[in-house]
This record gives sequence, C-alpha cells and structure tokens, in this order.
Amino acid sequence: MDCCDTSPGQFRDFKRDDFEAEWIKVAEGRFGHVYQVKVKLWREKCALKTFDETLSANNFYRKTKDVLSNIAKLKFKYILSIYGVCSDATAVVMEYMSNGSLNNLLASHNFMWQKKFQMIHEISMAMNFLHSTKPPLLHLNLKTSNILLDDHLHVKVSDFGLVHWEDGMCKATFMERLTARGNINYIPPEVFTECSDSPGTAFDVYSFGIVIWEILTQQKPYTGCSVTKVLLQVSKGKRPCLEMIPEKRPEECDELICIMQQCWDKNPQMRPLFADTVRKTETLNEVLKIPGTITGQRKGKTEEESKYPWMFSPVHKVSLPEMSETLSDDQHGENSILSM
Ligand code: ATP
Ligand code: MG
Repeated sequence: MDCCDTSPGQFRDFKRDDFEAEWIKVAEGRFGHVYQVKVKLWREKCALKTFDETLSANNFYRKTKDVLSNIAKLKFKYILSIYGVCSDATAVVMEYMSNGSLNNLLASHNFMWQKKFQMIHEISMAMNFLHSTKPPLLHLNLKTSNILLDDHLHVKVSDFGLVHWEDGMCKATFMERLTARGNINYIPPEVFTECSDSPGTAFDVYSFGIVIWEILTQQKPYTGCSVTKVLLQVSKGKRPCLEMIPEKRPEECDELICIMQQCWDKNPQMRPLFADTVRKTETLNEVLKIPGTITGQRKGKTEEESKYPWMFSPVHKVSLPEMSETLSDDQHGENSILSM
C-alpha cells in the first residue's frame, strides 16, 4: 500500500522510495541528521529527522515510533505536525519549516519588540496546549532549537514528548540523557539538586523562562561557562543576566521580565502554570500590536526584510564571532553574565 493511501490523519509508514531522490541536509543533530525531502505523491516538502545507529540498535527507535504515533494525533496551530516514520531510513517524517529554528534566527536577525512578544505568546500557547492534555504532555526538551518558524515567521514547537522519565529510572540516568542533548541551560535546578520525584509541568515552565530571556536579549545564556559551573551557579540561585536585556524597550517588557523570573523560580511550586501565563502574554501581545508602542524603525533592505519588513529591526546582526567580541565585559567576567 502506498504511504499516502491511508485514511486522513493516519500515522504513516513511509519508505525511502516515497521521497524524491534529492535529500537536502538541513542540519546535523547530535543524534542524527535533518533533511528536507519531497513526498513524490503529495508534491510537498517535509522534514525527515534520522536517528543514528546507536539509538536504533538499543530499541530507542522502536519505542520512539510508538510514542510518536500517539503524539502525531495532536493537532494545534503552534505545534509541529508529525506525518509518520520512515522505517527503512530510521527516521521521523514531519512538517517542514522553511525558516528553521529560532536558535538560528535569533543569532542572525534583530527582531522588533512586537515580533518578540508575538513569538513568546505563540510558544506559550503551544506549551499551554501540551499541558492541557490529560495527563499533561511534558516537553522536557523546550529550547530555541526546538522552536521552528514557518514561511510567515509564526512559531511551531517541535520534538515534544520524546524525552522521558521512565518509572524506576535513576536521576543520574535522566540527567545524562538531558545533558547529552546539550540542554544544560534549560534544566531546572531541582533536577540536579534533589533526589525527588519525576519531573512535572514546572520543568517546562523553567525552560520557557530561559527561552524568554534568549528572545529578549538575542543572546545565549552562560556563554563561556562549563557545564559544571552552570550546574553549580544555577543551583545556588543564579540566572541569566538581566542587564543584558536592552534598556531601550517598551514598558510592557518589564511585565514580561517579571513573568520570566517567576518561570525560572528556584521553587517549582512558585512557577506559574501555562494556563495563567498564556493569558498574560496574550494581553501583552495585544498591547504591542497597537501602533506607536514599538521601538525601532523599519528599513526594508535585504531580501528577508523586504519579505517580512514589519518583523525586523533595521540593523542586521553581525556574524557570531564578531558579535562575541563586541559583547565586552559581560562575556569575560566569570560571574558577570549571571545575575541573582
Ligand atoms: P534535539 O534532538 O534535542 O531536538 P536539536 O533540536 O538541536 O536537538 P534536531 O531536532 O536534530 O536537533 O534539529 C536540528 C536542526 O534542524 C534545528 O535546529 C532546525 O534548524 C532544523 N530542523 C529540525 N526540524 C526541522 C523541521 N521540521 N523543519 C525545518 N528545519 C528543521
Ligand atoms: Mg530538535
């Protein structure tokens, strides 16, 4: 049976031959690669994320396939659609997002406040949706590389529900799985300080706090700090530096900073629920839509700026190496990039 010859919404099992021969590599992940492929029958681009052989060998792929077939049933404007798997390529087939990840875009373009508020609200809506399922679907891997942007720079959250806390799993194994993905900045301190229960929704809320900081500053937190140093400082209560949030900002930003600080509170019980946060980000997003509340001028110059002129500040970001040189003291002082 053809992969596409299935009932609507069904989780499909693609074969390599269902795609055109040209596979364009989009990224090399830690555990596999992401390709842009085209489904022959649909004439539509998809993303294909492969899992490396080690993972397929230890049953990870089989388990992931079961999880994915359940997750794929979830449909929401701000979460990425999963179409199925491609067993003969040990891969998952999903919606392709032409503008890639927020992680890359934050490094290459300056976003206007209005767009930053909108993205934060859309992420909040996605997370509220995942947490509103019963039981809540935990992401446990929320980070800017798992926030993708479509043709119109609207957000879709991806790779949710793939990191698990398994019953009887020891905390060290769980931590190993998380840090292996290079996610240390997004892990709440209770995970590495307490031998307590399995993670709950407050885990994702903490990660969201860090994502807000990254959007507001367009920087990466704790640059230059080792994993051990981040673990140590974060468990002592230090967080990304507030001084790195531009001073020239709309006054509504202060409310967003307040939400961000609540989200990364040391005490998971004190962190807000997405059900409440989403209402606040909705209001802030509405306010910033009103003309006259946005700082920065528009000057469409590049191809992207002419395509989406309302989204970018006039200045294009400098390349990353240049940028870190211009960051000055904040980057060099050991503690200066962390604040209480
Ligand atoms: P993790 O495996 O923990 O999710 P990651 O997000 O860094 O880590 P991948 O999920 O393999 O690694 O994604 C790597 C990159 O591939 C992303 O940062 C993004 O640029 C690109 N990418 C991933 N999925 C898609 C997609 N559906 N459409 C377009 N680009 C994608
Ligand atoms: Mg990912």
